[in-house]
Amino acid sequence: MPVELLGKSAAELRALAASLGEPAYRGAQIYHALYAERRFELAAMSNLPVAFRARLAAEASVALPRIAKRFHSTDGSIRYLLALECIAPAAGERPTDIEAVYMPEEGRQTICISTQAGCPVNCHFCLTAQLGLVRNLTAGEIVGQVLVALEDNRAKLAPQTNVVLMGQGEPLLNYEPVMETVRLLLDPGGVGLSAKHVTLSTSGVVPGMDRLAQEKVRPKLAVSLNASSDEQRNAIMPINRKYPLGALLEACRRYPLRPWERLTFEYVLLAGFNDQPEDARRVAKLVANLRAKVNLIPWNPCELPYQAPAPERIEEFRRILTEKGVPAFVRYSRGQDIMAACGQLALLETPTPARVAQPS
Ligand code: SF4
Repeated sequence: MPVELLGKSAAELRALAASLGEPAYRGAQIYHALYAERRFELAAMSNLPVAFRARLAAEASVALPRIAKRFHSTDGSIRYLLALECIAPAAGERPTDIEAVYMPEEGRQTICISTQAGCPVNCHFCLTAQLGLVRNLTAGEIVGQVLVALEDNRAKLAPQTNVVLMGQGEPLLNYEPVMETVRLLLDPGGVGLSAKHVTLSTSGVVPGMDRLAQEKVRPKLAVSLNASSDEQRNAIMPINRKYPLGALLEACRRYPLRPWERLTFEYVLLAGFNDQPEDARRVAKLVANLRAKVNLIPWNPCELPYQAPAPERIEEFRRILTEKGVPAFVRYSRGQDIMAACGQLALLETPTPARVAQPS
């Protein structure tokens, strides 16, 4: 079996080079080629001696996720259906498919990546939950999604790249590979992104949040709140029975924010369920005294029995939070028409007609 290089750290690649009888700095050259220059053909790594390249090509591989299909949105976003080949499927098994989304904007692009194939968390408003957990992804498979999306758009890249770990899966339930990926993304000698531009979103896995708090290198943290009371949250997020709001907000309070940093709370608005003015007032109380902002995400249509609130209701919710001193923003998701928006990632090939509630 060839050694898989993608996902390996600089230290691991240096050790690998040494184990193949080469100076360790050759490993650093491979690291730079893979993550900084996005050169994936071992035979074409012209900074390495010819004999070493030939040996690498025989004994190692770079298994980038393969683009099985692209779905282009009218807003410019691209949803990638990616076939993973880093872990060879057992006999008779299909290769694992996952999704990543590329969203270009003025001056930057945002790439939303998956950390697990499917998801075990079972949020009731999210289509990914219907897949269940297929398996955890390796660091190579996670960072590979960023590299593939950048490479596929190489000719039109804006100067800034944002990465959000918000695709399929709960990142804190696949902790080690996710943190290995974060270190590759944030290493100035690696992919070279700023910590201000990489965000990990959790459904509220409290022990994972506490562990993340100890990391020297870490992304920004977003917490998927989606409810204003335990009763409400229990009804749509079973994880709340394990880590109820009290415990979750305690973890948020002890989370060590850097001077430039705010916690983000995401709040998917479901018409008639969690979008009432009293919900907004309760949310304001929950997040009071935290350096935080709330992103309001009108529910994105899919084959689940929910509706997005009417625009007036969304605006009223935002206004109440803002008046209570909580910065709040409405985030309309990109790529709704190609099933690329928040909560829509389920390997689907066709969109679902929009359902929007009428004002009550
Ligand atoms: S919202 Fe996130 S954590 Fe919840 S089921 Fe969907 S992918 Fe998993």
